[in-house]
Amino acid sequence: MPAITAPRGTRDILPAESWKWSYIVSTASRTMRDFGFSEIHLPVFEYTELFSRGVGETTDIVEKEMYTFTDRGGRSITLRPEATAGVMRAANENNLCAQGAGAKLWSWGPMFRYERPQKGRYRQFYQIDAEYLGVAGPMADAEVIALSIELFRRLGLRNLEVIINSVGCEKCRPVYRQKLVDYFTARKDELCETCIDRLSRNPLRILDCKNESCRNAADGAPDIFGSLCDECREHFAQVRNGLERLNFTYSISKRLVRGLDYYTKTAYEILSGDLGAQNAVAGGGRYDNLSRAIGGGKIPGVGFACGLDRVALVMEEQGCSFGEVPGVSVYCVAMDDESRGAVQALTHNLRMSGISAECDTAGRGFKAQMRAAGNCRFACIIGADERVNGTVSVKNLADGSQVSVKAGEAVSYLEGKL
Ligand code: ATP
Ligand code: MG
Repeated sequence: MPAITAPRGTRDILPAESWKWSYIVSTASRTMRDFGFSEIHLPVFEYTELFSRGVGETTDIVEKEMYTFTDRGGRSITLRPEATAGVMRAANENNLCAQGAGAKLWSWGPMFRYERPQKGRYRQFYQIDAEYLGVAGPMADAEVIALSIELFRRLGLRNLEVIINSVGCEKCRPVYRQKLVDYFTARKDELCETCIDRLSRNPLRILDCKNESCRNAADGAPDIFGSLCDECREHFAQVRNGLERLNFTYSISKRLVRGLDYYTKTAYEILSGDLGAQNAVAGGGRYDNLSRAIGGGKIPGVGFACGLDRVALVMEEQGCSFGEVPGVSVYCVAMDDESRGAVQALTHNLRMSGISAECDTAGRGFKAQMRAAGNCRFACIIGADERVNGTVSVKNLADGSQVSVKAGEAVSYLEGKL
């Protein structure tokens, strides 16, 4: 029988990598806390309608990337392809935006999209998300962008580019949309099949097409700034002011439209120069129409999602630090079988005092135990002599020095050293 493998597009995050992920998530957790964001845990599956209405019928995600199935109760369920719609649903359902100050929420976990797997693109991937709900003003946008930039600064990422754009609102986007339809209709023969289809369904998405001929056609397309209403223009100017006040470098990209329908006004992305084709490490923006699209109240919002898999790839590539390599501090070693009981008891006493410790539980000999102790700072050795004298030999594995301490004082001795 052939061995069963993980499904295509998924992978196991093994111990050699998982501690690096923990470092990234705990750095994110501290950064979120420092910006006043609280953590929220959400279901990984939702009713399909949440995404078809909240992400948008004409997006790549809804059109071809969702994992949708009918459950045993006959309901259509979808594995979440992104987090924002779920956060907004939870905010509505639990009345999280009742206070004028809004709600600052963050979350992390797996997302699911049926895509062509390649480097930096998986079918189960992970995102760190932050959403600032209930505040419509441009300072909230600047706050969210600042949060993502600060997260990457703390992680030590270099060579990043912040790009921003406005996608307007329901008042001014139709004007821009028409300009694009006029422009691209005249260049229809340069567009790919998908973009010809987009021309009637979602012409903004043509700007985002990776096809070379479409890109060339899009080069001369009008930007949105000539079409923005006064409110959207002023909002964009204020977001830029906010970023400049904080001394951030960014550029404006008329091509940046984002794949999600509910976005309004600000759209932004953070790109890495070290990722090749899958170069976006985070994307976000404002989504003032999302809440109503999913049947909720009038709750504006702005947020971002950062691709954890891609951040880990870039950090690895750039030789960034992932903090301390995990491992236990003390290894307790039995020189003979008679000492194994005392060693097990000492190991447990150390752990109860908050000192990380391990001992052999597989019946290995002295030499193998000492090898296992190799990455620890201390070895606590017990043999026949130590048992007779009621002592423990504590060996400092960094410099090879060894002292004998009373068995009852081994824990406090190590507490003083670690
Ligand atoms: P892309 O253009 O790369 O497909 P996207 O616009 O679909 O990205 P978003 O929906 O904005 O991506 O998601 C935010 C972030 O999540 C991306 O910037 C990226 O880092 C990460 N991401 C998205 N899809 C995947 C995937 N299939 N595998 C790994 N990371 C992903
Ligand atoms: Mg995508």
